[in-house]
Amino acid sequence: MWRYREFLPVIDPANIVTLGEGFTPILPLQNLRSQTGDIEVMWKDEAGNPTGSFKARGIGMAVSKAKELGINTIVTPTAGNAGGALAAYAARAGIRAIVYLPVQTPQLFKDECRLYGAEVIEVDGSISDCGRLANEEALKNGWFQVSTLKEPYRLEGKKTMGYEIAEQFDWQLPDVILYPTGGGTGLIGIWKAFDELERLGWIGPKRPQMVAVQSQSCAGIVEAFQDKKVVSAFMDGGFTIANGLRVPKPYADRLILRVLYQSRGTALSVSDTDMADALKEIARHEGMLIAPEGAALWHAFKQLKATGWLRSGQKVLLLNTGSGYKYLENIT
Ligand SMILES: *Cc1c(COP(=O)(O)O)cnc(C)c1O
Repeated sequence: MWRYREFLPVIDPANIVTLGEGFTPILPLQNLRSQTGDIEVMWKDEAGNPTGSFKARGIGMAVSKAKELGINTIVTPTAGNAGGALAAYAARAGIRAIVYLPVQTPQLFKDECRLYGAEVIEVDGSISDCGRLANEEALKNGWFQVSTLKEPYRLEGKKTMGYEIAEQFDWQLPDVILYPTGGGTGLIGIWKAFDELERLGWIGPKRPQMVAVQSQSCAGIVEAFQDKKVVSAFMDGGFTIANGLRVPKPYADRLILRVLYQSRGTALSVSDTDMADALKEIARHEGMLIAPEGAALWHAFKQLKATGWLRSGQKVLLLNTGSGYKYLENIT
């Protein structure tokens, strides 16, 4: 992702902390094309990122900037993947990392953080509770917090997906982008990248319709969108196999909803059963073991096609945000 470093906030390249994140492939749907009619479906597959998710982009940026700013302790609440990424990048930077995660988080995500040397604090609650505790301790101890969108740098890392999409599509953006929405950093970041690219004169004013896909466990954005609201309500239905989507009330709900309205997009939610079925279908027919968060998009795509929201001839990009390998204890 550092190929775009002129548009990123790290000033001295010596401060870049990298594990090889970014420039992930665009993979056209192959054997399931029989289900898509004349809609062209492609994945942008983030599974190959360090620590197995696109969190490597945002966290890589935040840790690089923390290094530049001389910070020695970083803390984050996490549903799993952000913690693993923070632990790894902090280890590489020689910075102390502390992560707060829900006790229900699958064991692998906890082990991963500990193996990278982070201090792991398990919280009996959701990521919202983790966020509250992390915030209290950070204020008390003077730690640098990288909670989603409460600092500016993770967004800058995630916006590189927007730069890549434009470059990989030869500066002709797809018609629709489906995004599995937790805190919404990627959705907002991609949108920001398109604005920057237009100001640079590299793309025109045409934008994809942006679709937020949530877990039925936490579908506050879907509800707000349907009611044409500008903020979302707190909504926590508990455990979901897509732990990255268990965000009861995104801090940036206003920004997420604004992108959906501006882009004439939509929002929909998917159940755990449908996510697991979609995950298996993609694995068996496409050779990709994607995260349940990404798998939710395949189910959402089929729904949007069935209702006629998607139109023939469109180019649709599905953003698989992580590797399914980390989730296997909950997929059978
Ligand atoms: C964190 C995460 C998400 C949600 O990302 P946001 O940009 O915060 O909405 C989706 N999928 C996976 C695999 C994640 O780890």
